[in-house]
Formats: sequence, structure tokens, C-alpha cells
Amino acid sequence: MSPIRIAIAGVGKIARDQHLPSIARNRDFVLAAAVSRNAEVAGVANFRDIDALLADMPDVKAVALCMPPGARHDAALKALSNGKHVLLEKPPGATLSELDDLVDMAAREGVSLFATWHSRFASGVRPARDWLASRTVRKVVVTWKEDVRKWHPGQAWIWEPGGFGVFDPGINALSIVTEILPQPIFLTSARLVFPENRAQPIAADLVFADSSGGERVEAVFDWRQTGPQTWNIEVTTNDGSLLLEQGGARLTIGDERVVDGSDEEYAGIYRRFAELIGSGGSDVDTRPLRHVADAFMVGLHERTEAFHDA
Ligand code: NAP
Repeated sequence: MSPIRIAIAGVGKIARDQHLPSIARNRDFVLAAAVSRNAEVAGVANFRDIDALLADMPDVKAVALCMPPGARHDAALKALSNGKHVLLEKPPGATLSELDDLVDMAAREGVSLFATWHSRFASGVRPARDWLASRTVRKVVVTWKEDVRKWHPGQAWIWEPGGFGVFDPGINALSIVTEILPQPIFLTSARLVFPENRAQPIAADLVFADSSGGERVEAVFDWRQTGPQTWNIEVTTNDGSLLLEQGGARLTIGDERVVDGSDEEYAGIYRRFAELIGSGGSDVDTRPLRHVADAFMVGLHERTEAFHDA
């Protein structure tokens, strides 16, 4: 079968760091075009907006949307309604209802919609899920602390309404938690800390329960961590404990290091996208986004000192 001609839209940090190299390494895809308001990708057709791409290149069958979540629905709807398969970077949208709209459109058009959660493709996540499947979870502690100046330098959108603030990385932790836990969880309380000059939180604490009651999951997200960065999930069960570190790349069960993986997340995403297109399926799990929406709904809002990029 000839490779699927794919276009990429929103040529920023993640498109350049991960999507372009991953597409180049995957034989199921060939990059045919890029859509960018500012940048050009060498060796392919370049367009300033998605309308021009859709009008000029009917042979493009799939589109990967790598712009911020607030700008994604419009492009996704246009691509889907023109019969394209669509890959959404995380978070898949700015609201839950706009995602429902995309799911409906993909079903109507008979194309694949893939809401990616890249952290779920980290090497330790699937073995952690398999190990937990036959155990009773007692407690989960999530510590997701990083330096916003290092990972999001000058990204104004991330502080604007719909930009998610510290939930931009925090939702990655929630995508792992919802993937590995055998039971559903629901938010019971949250505290969101907003810099006095910003519209989105710089830190958040969340508490979740499951249907058996009690506080099952505690999560701390913080963007003010300098020095070593922490992306850890510790799970205590009725039969031992596990620790996921480095965003899910490293897994320790009890005292044994079971996985110490390399960065395979985006290779996994594009393999999955090809499978979905091949089977005519879609994959849209809204749970991580729902937990973030719940945190904005019930969370206590606190103010802290102003944040400046430099
Ligand atoms: P970024 O560097 O700011 O790039 C986003 C690109 O989207 C911009 O360069 C711009 O590209 C395009 N764009 C279209 N409409 C826009 C708008 N209204 N405001 C700003 N940019 C707009 O951001 P990023 O880090 O690549 O993040 C993009 C998405 O990937 C986010 O959802 C983020 O959560 C996710 N992600 C990021 C990382 C990471 O490490 N940075 C990791 C995993 C996932 P053009 O100039 O080409 O139009």
C-alpha cells in the first residue's frame, strides 16, 4: 500500500521536535504539506491556512494539528468535513463540547479522529497498566513539577483563557493515571494558584476519589520548579507498589527497575494513527480533559505573585 499523504498544521516547538521527525521515520506516512502562518517546512508544499491546503491538495488524506488547543477546533472541523483523517495534539480541544462536535463529524464522514495523549506511549505506561489490572489500588500520588521558563519559553497562548496553564503538562499526568488505573476516578477537590498578572494557573493540587470512597489520588502540579524536574506517579496497592518516573519512561515495581525506556512516544502515536486509519476507527478519550474541566469548575482559586517570562 502506498503511504498516506499527510499534512502538518501549526509549525511550532512540538511539530519540529517530534511530529516532523516521527512522520519522516514512519513508512506508513509521507509528509506532503505544511500549514503555517509564519514558518515553512522544506521540501513540501506550504500553505498559510487550512482552507488553502484543502482547496489545493485533494490528495492529502490526513492532517496532524499541532497548534494550541484553542485554535484547533476550526481547523479540525474543516479537515474532517473535507474527508481527511485528523490527529489532534493534546489537549485535544479547549472545551469538551467542541470535541463532541468533532467526534460526530468524523463519524458522519467515515474518517478517523485520533485525540493523542503522548504520555500514554511512554515505555513504562502499558506494563504499569498490566501490572495494576489484577490489583487493588490503595493510593496514587502524582508529582508533576517543572520549570515553565524552560519548557514554554515565550508561549503567550499558554497563559491565555483556553491555554490551560499548568494543566498543559498536568493533563499528561492525568492521561497516564486514567490509562493505568483499573477503576474510574472523580475529582473531589482542587486548589488552583493563579499569578496576579495571568489568566491561567501556575500550580494546582487535586484530590480524586473512586467509587469505593476515600481519597484515592492526590496530584500536585507546579510550574515553578527549577533544577531537577519531576514527573512521577507512585501507586500503592494491596500487593506492592510501583513508581513511574520521567513522565512514564521509567518503571520500578517494588525494588526492581522493570523499564528504563527511551523516548518512543511520538513513534507510538504515528503507529497508532496508521492503525486507526487502516481499520477505519477513531480514538478519542476525553477523560483527562474532563478532569481538568472539573478542576476549573470546583477548584478554589488563589492568587500568587506575578509571573514574568524573563
Ligand atoms: P508553540 O511552540 O507555541 O507552537 C504552536 C504553533 O501553533 C505556533 O508556532 C503557530 O504556528 C501555531 N498556531 C496557530 N494558531 C495559533 C494561535 N492562535 N496561537 C499560537 N500559535 C498558533 O507550541 P507547542 O509547544 O508546539 O505546543 C502546541 C501543542 O502541542 C499544545 O497543545 C501543547 O500542549 C502540545 N505539546 C507541546 C509539547 C512541548 O514540549 N512543547 C509537548 C507535547 C505536546 P504557525 O506559526 O506555524 O501557525
